[in-house]
Amino acid sequence: MKPYDFPDATGHFGPYGGVFVAETLMHALAQLRQAYAKYQNDPDFLAEFHSELRHFVGRPTPVYHARRWSEELGGAQIWFKREDLNHTGAHKINNSLGQALLARRMGKKRIIAETGAGQHGVATATVCARYGMECIVYMGSEDVKRQAPNVYRMKLLGATVVPVESGSKTLKDALNEALRDWVTNVEDTFYIIGTVAGPHPYPMMVRNFHSVIGEECIEQMPQYAGRQPDYVLACVGGGSNAMGIFHPYINHEDVKLVGVEAAGHGIASGHHAASLSAGQVGVLHGNRTYVIQNEDGQVQETHSVSAGLDYPGVGPEHAWLKDTGRARYVGVTDDEALAAFHHCCRIEGIIPALETAHALAEAARLAPTLPKDRIILVNLSGRGDKDINTVATQAGIEL
Ligand SMILES: *Cc1c(COP(=O)(O)O)cnc(C)c1O
Repeated sequence: MKPYDFPDATGHFGPYGGVFVAETLMHALAQLRQAYAKYQNDPDFLAEFHSELRHFVGRPTPVYHARRWSEELGGAQIWFKREDLNHTGAHKINNSLGQALLARRMGKKRIIAETGAGQHGVATATVCARYGMECIVYMGSEDVKRQAPNVYRMKLLGATVVPVESGSKTLKDALNEALRDWVTNVEDTFYIIGTVAGPHPYPMMVRNFHSVIGEECIEQMPQYAGRQPDYVLACVGGGSNAMGIFHPYINHEDVKLVGVEAAGHGIASGHHAASLSAGQVGVLHGNRTYVIQNEDGQVQETHSVSAGLDYPGVGPEHAWLKDTGRARYVGVTDDEALAAFHHCCRIEGIIPALETAHALAEAARLAPTLPKDRIILVNLSGRGDKDINTVATQAGIEL
């Protein structure tokens, strides 16, 4: 079996993935697997998904030649896939929309989600408003404080935000609380997970909803750039924007795939979020994958200037792509990402998300090492309006 045929029927990507949850959730997951299997290729379901992507989200997003930046670097041509132009400003809504449509087909009217930086919470609150569904978002109480504008956005959209006071009061505690809610309310509740993690079938299902990103690129690149790219780059937090653009390219064996993790203050500092580059194999959020943990298997606090990359695990398919060598994973530090952020603003007129800026920094490193007729395609996963306070603070500016 080649990597792109994965996962197998039990949700494994090689040794990764699977289902590591309490017995009480087994039934809910079985129900979800059946429903997804039924609708995954259902023409009506897909027609509705694509119609909503077009009219509500604004797809297809363009591919864009970063001409000035490419010229300045003097090597390969850099192209962006403009996921920043989606409704709500990032790729995340592709997945929230797909899962909400599935929930509707399953007759589930109550949606729960967990969020760290609040971006997934906002995307989910948005689609719940669109379909008139109840939306409850779990968020660590520390994150509620740090991400006040996103908390308010969710409330404007009609969602209930529940601050989680346990543990470190951050994303991993919110994850646990969402799972607890699901166990209790499994009959009427659908849990929308926001990245390619969680127990099977989530990593596969979330990847498939986001594959529209890569599928559009496969059509657009020959049309606008003259051919497919030599490299496809994407930042990796949980790994959903990366899987979305990688997956349709996996069987294009001559297209190199590069995932960019947050190296924070540097891998050696211990303050980073680079699960693949510096983690060990463990279990997190219902699946086996690379996790940032101590010798006792305790999940460690992570650090990144970008809240969306600040996750101690990574989707199991990335673990497998790394082990098989089909994709390569590198780290970019906070400082490198910030430099790329500022450069992109000035030279291309695009304010990128800080998550995305990690992929841009790697593109800037790679481009000068390649001839001018090579193409690097970067998934511009989101816009950076949400990050301007963070960036200003880093520059010592008070807004
Ligand atoms: C959430 C987010 C990410 C990280 O999540 P993935 O699942 O790794 O894609 C990256 N970029 C943006 C703009 C985000 O909002």
